Amino acid sequence: MKRRILIVGGGTAGWLTAAYLARFLRLSERNHLEVTVLESPDIGVVGVGEGTFPTIRSTLQFLGIDEARFIRETAATLKQGIRFVDWARAPAGGMHQQFFHPFEAPFYADDLNLVPYWLLQDPATRPPFAEAMTLQVRVAAAQRAPKRAGEAPYAAPLNYAYHFDALKLSRLLAERARELGVRHVEGLVTHVALDAEGAIAHLDTAQQGRFEADLYIDCTGFRAELVGRAMGSEFKSVRHQLFADRALACKIPLAADAVMESCTVATAHEAGWLWEIGLNGARGIGCVYSSDHLGDDRAADILRDYCGPGHEDLAMRSIPFVPGYRERQWVKNCVAVGLSAGFLEPLEATGLVLVEAAVGMIAEMLPHSGPIAAPARRFNELMTARFENIINFLKLHYALSRRPEPFWRDNAAPASLPERLAGLLQEWKLRPPGRFDFVLDTETFAFFNYQYILYGMGFLTDLGVGRDDFPRMEEAGRVFAKIQRFAERAVADLPSHRALIQQLNAGR
Ligand SMILES: Cc1cc2nc3c(=O)[nH]c(=O)nc-3n(C[C@H](O)[C@H](O)[C@H](O)COP(=O)(O)OP(=O)(O)OC[C@H]3O[C@@H](n4cnc5c(N)ncnc54)[C@H](O)[C@@H]3O)c2cc1C
Repeated sequence: MKRRILIVGGGTAGWLTAAYLARFLRLSERNHLEVTVLESPDIGVVGVGEGTFPTIRSTLQFLGIDEARFIRETAATLKQGIRFVDWARAPAGGMHQQFFHPFEAPFYADDLNLVPYWLLQDPATRPPFAEAMTLQVRVAAAQRAPKRAGEAPYAAPLNYAYHFDALKLSRLLAERARELGVRHVEGLVTHVALDAEGAIAHLDTAQQGRFEADLYIDCTGFRAELVGRAMGSEFKSVRHQLFADRALACKIPLAADAVMESCTVATAHEAGWLWEIGLNGARGIGCVYSSDHLGDDRAADILRDYCGPGHEDLAMRSIPFVPGYRERQWVKNCVAVGLSAGFLEPLEATGLVLVEAAVGMIAEMLPHSGPIAAPARRFNELMTARFENIINFLKLHYALSRRPEPFWRDNAAPASLPERLAGLLQEWKLRPPGRFDFVLDTETFAFFNYQYILYGMGFLTDLGVGRDDFPRMEEAGRVFAKIQRFAERAVADLPSHRALIQQLNAGR
């Protein structure tokens, strides 16, 4: 008997899920399987989400998409991390506090953990944490690429992800999914019929009649037509912890001679932050804010000011959202992937990485026969843990700020801290974050990501009484010097980011 998987929604989540399942389940070789994407072109896609996480490289490679083609067709650039500006302190006298969150893990030196040795150095003279720990910071600051043109696709000496045009990516994924055997149907779902047990019996569409399937994947974005509206899986708002609930987005041309950054720039403002993402030929810019702390007009002014002169008539798109997620994402024969499952906010670009995590789990957990809902409980536990862990990580960025505005003071109030984060912050006052703080299978961010944010924001870990426990100061000093030498060499050896992108676009 045929097993049918129906994916409703043709945004990035729908098409990524379709292509991934088609590839994983070897759809084209197995006649008893059918994967269909049903989408309504009238509704359209959210079309934002230009920043990614390094896992996207292995996903695209697994899908069999050529890296140079992907870069050409989605106006992509390479992303080596995020530069945070004005997060720890508000700008004063033209001075901006900055720190970098690189993708590259701290340099690993045999059995020597460098972190305590950095903590024990003189704060007045030591380099910033990330710069001391990895050469990637200087590479990105010098607008160098993380790889050379001749390097194998998706491989590089330095860890990286991409910035891309989200609409173009959806189109590319759709094309690849169809090549892998996915059926594509256009139609608006107007009714979801449930059976006596509350599972989906069938869907009705305006144009294409009735659809029945064994598994329904809800990729309908914020509308959550299946899992939310029809099945009633509750949405859990986390607005008491993450306050941002609106984004204003725009795109402006990138001058041909302008710097092409290989990092996202995240600049804090009085009640949120701005993203700037350099694409090939364009700058994607957005203002993220809390509507409790900032009016829409003031947010528009902040965005216009950021874009600079000549952008007084800027076309902006307002995207309201409620930060949160569903604890029951897989209910009976329906599972939500993408915005229908939840969305926290654009910080640290966790939208697509959550899609990748969900689809990877669905592919592996889907029973070959028998009840389709069997893995639902485990899936929901793991996704809930993943969302909660990301909430902790995102909150860290806000909670450590010493900015004086009400948005930032409210964010630092102990009552808004998730309990687990509050506990960890207490421990990290006396020791740096370590790998046993986290269960890696449900984490998107590792302990070193926490270190980059904590020490970038100026958090104090006091090893004072333990100073004698760290007798390898000289050896650590030599390793720190080696990292700086490597950085100099890398800056000299690697091509400029712009040159690499031009070369890949020229097909060389
Ligand atoms: C402001 C903002 C910034 C973001 N930034 C990032 C980022 O930097 N990095 C990142 O990884 N993620 C980011 N995200 C998240 C990212 O945009 C999404 O994860 C991603 O685009 C997936 O969206 P989606 O496919 O779930 O939903 P959508 O793109 O909204 O697609 C929904 C689909 O469902 C279809 N549909 C809806 N209702 C029906 C119906 N009744 N019948 C038929 N079809 C229907 C629509 O036609 C559409 O095809 C951001 C999100 C927002 C809001």
